[in-house]
Amino acid sequence: MKAVTIKAYAKINLSIDVLGKRPDGYHEVLMVMEQVDLFDMVKVIWLEDSDQDEPFIRLSTNLSYLPADSRNIAYKAAELMAGQYGREAAGRIVIKIDKRIPVAAGLAGGSANCAAVLHALNLLWELNLDLGTLMKLGAGLGADVPFCLAGQAALNEELKLKEDPRAGTCAVASGIGEQLEQVPPLHVWVLLSKPAISLSTAQVYGGLNLEAIPERPNTAELVAGLKEGNLYKISKNMTNVLENYSLKEYPVIVYTKNKIVQDGKAYKALMSGSGPTVFGLYTSKRKGTAAFLKMKTLNQETFLIKTL
Ligand code: ATP
Repeated sequence: MKAVTIKAYAKINLSIDVLGKRPDGYHEVLMVMEQVDLFDMVKVIWLEDSDQDEPFIRLSTNLSYLPADSRNIAYKAAELMAGQYGREAAGRIVIKIDKRIPVAAGLAGGSANCAAVLHALNLLWELNLDLGTLMKLGAGLGADVPFCLAGQAALNEELKLKEDPRAGTCAVASGIGEQLEQVPPLHVWVLLSKPAISLSTAQVYGGLNLEAIPERPNTAELVAGLKEGNLYKISKNMTNVLENYSLKEYPVIVYTKNKIVQDGKAYKALMSGSGPTVFGLYTSKRKGTAAFLKMKTLNQETFLIKTL
């Protein structure tokens, strides 16, 4: 038996622009994403001499409502790797996910789990795939998976991929989100607060009216701000165009965002991904803690963490 446990981190979006819809139905995006210090623990076990009556892949999580079969994106990752590298006859895969990242929240929790399984099987089967190869495989499973692979490579020492130039925690993503260019990360305290609703990414992209977006992020300026470490420039150029749908449709997100803004201590508040999680950025732990205590009484799924 061989096992590895990987920290699968959540992400926030410092910006999202939607440039258009492709003929295949996917949206062209230009966005900046950063990993944050909130993670699921993904343990993958490879059993070489197991009972042949056992299923080839067994997945379990601490959340009973999550699917544990091929509807789970982490399960799909195992299927893809097994098909590609022909391991079905040789043993059994057991995946145990301890979820801490809120689900359907705009934090890429599922994509992070998927990336962790790709990394884990690469390690357990001693495939020695480089990060670029894993990212190509991951892109077929989800647009955010390559970003999660790059972040986990930078943050999980045992993967031994830290030195790869594609490894990193903050990136500009283009295409459908799978084309990445690493940029210097922003080091701040982050308050995450998720109203008690779940949003599907497909619903939000589908509902967005691309002709009626009043304000778009200036991604070049945002990246310049990150390179200069200029907080003013960074916050001025952080915009998420998906707010145009999610905030209009769900007043509870507006309420959460307003509460963070009204508190006055955050230098920026924005919805992450397709929502409903809203985040606030703070320059000190003290400011962040004051806001955390207030927001925790409003939304149970509230966290104070750091960017990575
Ligand atoms: P993104 O920011 O990439 O849109 P998200 O945080 O909005 O992601 P997820 O938590 O990744 O959304 O999950 C979205 C849906 O995917 C959920 O409704 C859930 O049922 C399904 N799902 C499948 N596998 C997983 C998994 N391993 N973890 C969480 N959700 C999963």
